[in-house]
Amino acid sequence: MIERHVAAAQVQRFEGLDWFPREKGAALTELVKAMQSAPNEIVAEHITSELVHAARECPKPADLYRMIGQEREKLETATNNCRACNGTGMHIITRTIKGIEYSGATDCECRQRKTA
Ligand SMILES: [Zn+2]
Repeated sequence: MIERHVAAAQVQRFEGLDWFPREKGAALTELVKAMQSAPNEIVAEHITSELVHAARECPKPADLYRMIGQEREKLETATNNCRACNGTGMHIITRTIKGIEYSGATDCECRQRKTA
């Protein structure tokens, strides 16, 4: 679980997508709740970035729960005492392309070792 304000900040990034619930009501609350179910902030950041880059429509809570479930499985295959990723199973990488900074996540080697 992550904190509500952190989840809400990620959900806000969907604002430019079609069908974003602009009126603060149940639909927005459910999206934030779904985002809160992320095991940590890195996962929340990662799935939000993936969606913002790839999706045209705002995800539904069910989409977030499904993606978070997939990331949770990845976490379970990561090594807790891995120094490279601190057991998150992911590395955040940033790249600057034409002056714009992009960040994304890649799988840590400790996961690949364990699943191989
Ligand atoms: Zn690792």
